[in-house]
Amino acid sequence: MGELSGKVALVTGASQGIGAACARALAQAGAQVVCASRRLEAVEEVAAGIRQAGGVAVARTLDVTHHEEAAALVEEVAQTLGGLHILVNNAGITDDQLFLRMKPESWRRVMATNLDGVFNVTHPAARIMLKQKEGRIITITSVVGLMGNPGQANYAAAKAGLVGFTKSLARELGSRNITVNAVAPGYIQTAMTEALSEEQRQRLLASLAIPRLGTPEDVAAVVVFLAGPGASYITGEVINVSGGLYM
Ligand code: NDP
Repeated sequence: MGELSGKVALVTGASQGIGAACARALAQAGAQVVCASRRLEAVEEVAAGIRQAGGVAVARTLDVTHHEEAAALVEEVAQTLGGLHILVNNAGITDDQLFLRMKPESWRRVMATNLDGVFNVTHPAARIMLKQKEGRIITITSVVGLMGNPGQANYAAAKAGLVGFTKSLARELGSRNITVNAVAPGYIQTAMTEALSEEQRQRLLASLAIPRLGTPEDVAAVVVFLAGPGASYITGEVINVSGGLYM
């Protein structure tokens, strides 16, 4: 019996990287986990791995840019699994370009996934959590939303938006036993950061207090903490998991 046993968790973008690590770690802590992303085969593989390790997990298709699809999934999860206690808004993309070369489509694509996507899933989830009188909403932002990064004006704007979103929602929902927090990773070793050149990697390592890239598990551990009983008095916070890249 883990400390999250009896809880139902939904993780968006759970097919790989940080989302998959969050799904595995939440299941290891005892939660029943719904792994969701656009690629059913990939999330099914993650869910199967969790079941093989003795956890409870199911896979569902979800494109977070579609509000109705998100609302239908949240409703289905709550009805069939007995509620929704933990939401991890993890799905995210980058579409980098120096600002003057950035096409409006790149701006909109990143906003649609990283910012609208969080609204689309959290809106129906918060309604369920209010009825339940219990909930944990954890959103993966980025230190880039706090410190900026050349070539990422769209991504940084969306991630900074999530910080304001988190703090506002924390103030709205705190009296209803729902906490709302964000986790801001620095550079984590996933497909998203694979494209770094050796020179960029060396420059990056020199700017870190802990001179290594983070792992998806480094982020997942903080997500599990925020979902657990030890974090019941923490809300509206942004916790950096960046090896000291931003402090
Ligand atoms: P990956 O690119 O490895 O994974 C992204 C995940 O998001 C995939 O599972 C993908 O699944 C899913 N996804 C993308 N678009 C959608 C969509 N429209 N609907 C549903 N799911 C979607 O990235 P990371 O694991 O590195 O990143 C995860 C989160 O962490 C993101 O929000 C990212 O911004 C943030 N982050 C990452 C950092 C890093 O260094 N890696 C640093 C700071 C923040 P599928 O393709 O199957 O839909």
